[in-house]
Amino acid sequence: MPGLVIVGAQWGDEGKGKVTDLLAESADAVVRFQGGNNAGHTIVRDGEEFKFHLIPSGILYPEKTCVIGNGVVLDPGILLGEIDGLRRRGIDVGNLRISANAHLIMPYHVLLDTAGETKLGKLSIGTTRRGIGPCYADKALRLGIRVQDLLDEKILRTKIRAALEPKQQALRELSVQRRKLRKEAGEEADKASAEQAIGGAPDPRLDLHAMTEAHVSYGHRLEPHIADTSRLCCEVLDEGRTVIFEGAQATLLDLDHGTYPFVTSSNPIAGAACVGAGVGPTDIDEVWGVAKAYATRVGAGPFPTELEDEVGRHMLERGHEYGTTTGRERRCGWIDLVALRYAVRLNRMNALAVTKLDVLSGIERLRVAVRYRSKEGAVLDRFPYHQSILHSAQPEYEELPGFDVDVTGCRSLADLPLDFIADFVDVPIRLVGVGPGRDQVVRID
Ligand code: GDP
Repeated sequence: MPGLVIVGAQWGDEGKGKVTDLLAESADAVVRFQGGNNAGHTIVRDGEEFKFHLIPSGILYPEKTCVIGNGVVLDPGILLGEIDGLRRRGIDVGNLRISANAHLIMPYHVLLDTAGETKLGKLSIGTTRRGIGPCYADKALRLGIRVQDLLDEKILRTKIRAALEPKQQALRELSVQRRKLRKEAGEEADKASAEQAIGGAPDPRLDLHAMTEAHVSYGHRLEPHIADTSRLCCEVLDEGRTVIFEGAQATLLDLDHGTYPFVTSSNPIAGAACVGAGVGPTDIDEVWGVAKAYATRVGAGPFPTELEDEVGRHMLERGHEYGTTTGRERRCGWIDLVALRYAVRLNRMNALAVTKLDVLSGIERLRVAVRYRSKEGAVLDRFPYHQSILHSAQPEYEELPGFDVDVTGCRSLADLPLDFIADFVDVPIRLVGVGPGRDQVVRID
């Protein structure tokens, strides 16, 4: 502290929300720095469950500033829904600040995401179809609409028009595809809506005027929260107070360093916190990684330690491994220390939080992957840089004694089989999750 980054050390859903919530106790601001509403953090407080897709996990502390940084892409309708939901549950969102430079997920991004995945068929990436990838693509193409644009109707309209125009072809293809699908399903072709899907028609999702109007009204509601959040973060840090930079998704889904193309469309690693929040590398003092005591992955892509047996089912069911955002079943497997060591290096982690140890209770022999064996029989101690090698790599395991005790009441590290992990990746484990509740955690100083 005072600049602390929290990142996912595996393929996401590691329990970053809970760890952020705990560490936020001694922080002044919590900033999300990348991703969109494809993330889903769950926090359980006093038996009550909160799920966040966009709002930083610190929101449950009314006195902390919560920031949606410039690196995040946000769907304003979804964000307002989340704000309303929190207000209904009596949570004050007065301290929520949104970067004026963050990009907006527009209705055409959502349609393009779905169309892209449908087109890929079996090769689909497994995106959440929330428009995140197309939104980041428009950002890079300099066709993005930013939060600040919501505050100027004329600019907003001009920018939406410019962004829509080059998409006509793609959207036309989409409507043709839709018609084809309907025909295949034996439905009456809804000619009107298929044709109207191409700008200028009354489909509110694609009509320039309706879209502009809806977004102007989003702007009115979001205006009190819009700010220069880079300045805000720097001011907090300059006063010697603590800022937590909260990553979404995880290291192995990183656009540059993950298992491309089965990755997210942003950079969830610690280095991206600076860009996505508008601070400098010298502001970062500590990097914490969050890993489950086993491993899960949503969507397609290589996963060497995946289990398709009763142990995998045990993890799925005991760990409630269903996506917070999509409800999809997560693929489950043993913890992969080759991949974890790679994540430790990429993020230059100082500390690890290991979550969901309780889920492994009752499994007689625990396994941890310590190396891979390539198709040709070569021993791979490091995470291979070539995707084809990773796809066919077979994990080799070390066995650790299992435990049958109920660890959910456990509050000390003795007897928990974690030393091996800390030694292997050479990072101290500072927190161990032994249940979803806020107090079901072992802290190690
Ligand atoms: P995030 O996106 O990394 O924050 O992870 P999610 O919120 O999608 O998934 C974590 C899930 O695991 C949530 O339902 C948490 O309540 C739950 N969880 C977190 N830590 C623990 C733990 O130590 N044990 C158990 N059983 N559940 C946990």
